[in-house]
Amino acid sequence: MPGLEDLYREIILDHYRNPRNRGELPTPPAHRVEGFNPLCGDEIVVYVDVDDEGRLTDLKIGGQGCSISQSSASMMTAAVKGRTEAETRELIRAFKAMMSIHERGLDGDGIDGDGGPVAPDPSVDMGELEALRGVVKFPVRIKCATLSWNTLVQAFDEASLERSRE
Ligand code: ZN
Repeated sequence: MPGLEDLYREIILDHYRNPRNRGELPTPPAHRVEGFNPLCGDEIVVYVDVDDEGRLTDLKIGGQGCSISQSSASMMTAAVKGRTEAETRELIRAFKAMMSIHERGLDGDGIDGDGGPVAPDPSVDMGELEALRGVVKFPVRIKCATLSWNTLVQAFDEASLERSRE
């Protein structure tokens, strides 16, 4: 009988081989943001459509890189599409908390309130994202897993900046 680790590996490989929401969206109205992980050479391009209520009506992923970076991006799109920005930011926080055991306070992006310990939020259902939890055992790969999530935060920030200018 396959163990949990095998199941998680299957989920990661499935998203790597059959990435969800891969492609591009026309800009504007979509926002296009690029992320790069120099430690590994991973590139992620995130396209997001956010409506006036802040709901993520569509998102697409481009770019290339290792299996962890690309499958994490694919899982992210499946998890957040159709959610509001607030719901998505909550999931991003929970995901980054899950991935931050070895790098807390090092990335300085303020997402998990640098300097304070982050307790896992039991109210957030991580679903398939649990499959990536094992990545924290390999600290050099954590940036691979969080790249698309950080890029999505940047896309939200740019989108809200633009809305405030209108
Ligand atoms: Zn990588």
